[in-house]
Amino acid sequence: MSDLVARINPPVRTLMGPGPSDIHPNVLAAMAKPTVGHLDPYYLKVMDELQGMLRQLFRTENAMTFAVSGTGSAGMEATVVNLVEPGDNVVVCVNGVFGKRLADVATRAGGNVTVVEKPWGEVFTADDLKETIAATKPKLVAIVMAETSTGAWQPIEEISELVHNAGAMLLVDAVTSLGGVAVEVDKWNIDAIYSGSQKCLSCPPGLAPVSFSAKAMETIMNRKTPVQSWYLDVSLLANYWGENRVYHHTAPINMSYGLHEAVRLILEEGLDNCFARHLKNHQALAAGLSAIGIEYTAAEGHRLPMLNAVKVPEGIEDTVIRKGLLNQFGIEIGGGLGAFAGKVWRIGLMGYAARQNNVLLFLAALEQLLAAQGYQFDRGASIEDANQVYLAYSHAKTLG
Ligand SMILES: *Cc1c(COP(=O)(O)O)cnc(C)c1O
Repeated sequence: MSDLVARINPPVRTLMGPGPSDIHPNVLAAMAKPTVGHLDPYYLKVMDELQGMLRQLFRTENAMTFAVSGTGSAGMEATVVNLVEPGDNVVVCVNGVFGKRLADVATRAGGNVTVVEKPWGEVFTADDLKETIAATKPKLVAIVMAETSTGAWQPIEEISELVHNAGAMLLVDAVTSLGGVAVEVDKWNIDAIYSGSQKCLSCPPGLAPVSFSAKAMETIMNRKTPVQSWYLDVSLLANYWGENRVYHHTAPINMSYGLHEAVRLILEEGLDNCFARHLKNHQALAAGLSAIGIEYTAAEGHRLPMLNAVKVPEGIEDTVIRKGLLNQFGIEIGGGLGAFAGKVWRIGLMGYAARQNNVLLFLAALEQLLAAQGYQFDRGASIEDANQVYLAYSHAKTLG
């Protein structure tokens, strides 16, 4: 008996990193419900309802809207490998880690990939892509809407117009944006889009909502070569998620319960209210950080509400602060990735984590840890300025 390990008993954390985010208790409760068969009439109803709710979330009428079994990267892989055949010209926009990953996946799918780069923290304009698109006549252009490595918020509409005028299709990474800011699949004419369950949807990681336009599906159904991945082949998955319900793989039943409840909660709150909540908490956090001299990495006007990437102040040791947050306060934030390693903190206000309790707790904890490191700042100013934002909101509400 002595070598029997203990029962799972994880610590309770406040998840304010780049994902996973805090999970609403209803979502965890939903996941603990009895497992039924994956072709059980009850489960088929869950799938139907989930598809309907995902269409509302993506703001699309696309029939082929469902959840890929796998994390956000599986969603990335599913959209790319279905749309890209060996030799196809693909343009990928890279201004951070996830654009880079997209380029890697498209290259592995056999695409003839042209990368357009911008410095980390900046976003793309249509002008940045014009020449490359005219010169390479791509079948597909891929771009990340919310670059989680830099906190930059990429506008999609103008680029979509350019892409479609050139006869190409548009693929969008909405892993971090979906549920935190408006994602308009139909209005912006997006052909393929993917997300992940553990960012602003506040569900554990394991499912990747995706949607394919009618044009994307037509392209997939008319491929010359079979999709390299059997597991992610949308033409096969369509028979499972569509009316036929043909067995393809065993869906992760309890994960679907969790995502069902997570998306239901967002729709119950109202999409626009949910976006407004993310924005309000971001504004309070940004005011607090600014009051103690901490700067954002993303360009002004392009900062994501749900992912606050800020510069580690001069003379402060990144890991000392992050370890202190975790060990003394149970708060997880993210460090920098790639070029930003050791230089940036990534503070997530995703989904259920976007609450004033989290913002005020974090700022208070950060102030204590920075003070212990000898950082010079106006003590208490972050809390005061964050509260100013909250008070202004509640005052505006009282006035109607
Ligand atoms: C997290 C993330 C991914 C990858 O998702 P996983 O769930 O980690 O596989 C892809 N793109 C962006 C923008 C992300 O933030």
